[in-house]
Amino acid sequence: MNTMMAAHPPTSRPNPGSAEASIAQFVASTGPLDSLVASGFLDRQDGHYVAQELRTPQLRQAMKYSVCLTAEPDIGHFYQEDGEPDTDWRRRRAQTVRDHCSVCPVRAACAELALREGDTVGIRGGLSPEKLKRRLVMERDRLDQALAEDQHAAQQQQARIAAAREVQRLAGQYLGTSGKREKRLENMENIREATRRRDELVAAHRRSAGWTVAA
Ligand code: SF4
Repeated sequence: MNTMMAAHPPTSRPNPGSAEASIAQFVASTGPLDSLVASGFLDRQDGHYVAQELRTPQLRQAMKYSVCLTAEPDIGHFYQEDGEPDTDWRRRRAQTVRDHCSVCPVRAACAELALREGDTVGIRGGLSPEKLKRRLVMERDRLDQALAEDQHAAQQQQARIAAAREVQRLAGQYLGTSGKREKRLENMENIREATRRRDELVAAHRRSAGWTVAA
């Protein structure tokens, strides 16, 4: 039997330099994303180490806490205007970063999301378009790997959903079977097999996320 570990807010920041401290395990052990945001792990200077370990849907989920969504500042603050002199834009963007990004609780998630989406047009995550472009080039290999892992996670999720739907479909079929004992036994066997397949996929997902331990 597997038991789910209780989700705790993190009490200390990960040390990306130590071999024993896997950031992936750290992120997995923090439980709901909300606790990660509430504990300030995506707005700190080294928050990008944590953001890099999140999947893109989690990064998007974190954005519901962003200053851009909750305070709705003028979007024009984040983009250089047509014909605006560079000196004016540099001054304006420094003020935007100071007024908005520096107090945003998900600044690191915002920057990581921009990099994965290749969005370098305006200010994202407190970074100027030039800095975003530089990081896109410097971190290309890491970003390609993160995007491949995003795709893999999405495929795995689709497989879990399909397996759960198959159990439901077969259960409905079983309930609709009347009379014939052989048919009911066959349907029951199919349900058992589909349930086993669904549970295997769910257990594998929980193990990979560090959510379960073998009893
Ligand atoms: S980090 Fe800056 S650009 Fe990103 S959501 Fe926060 S305020 Fe907006």
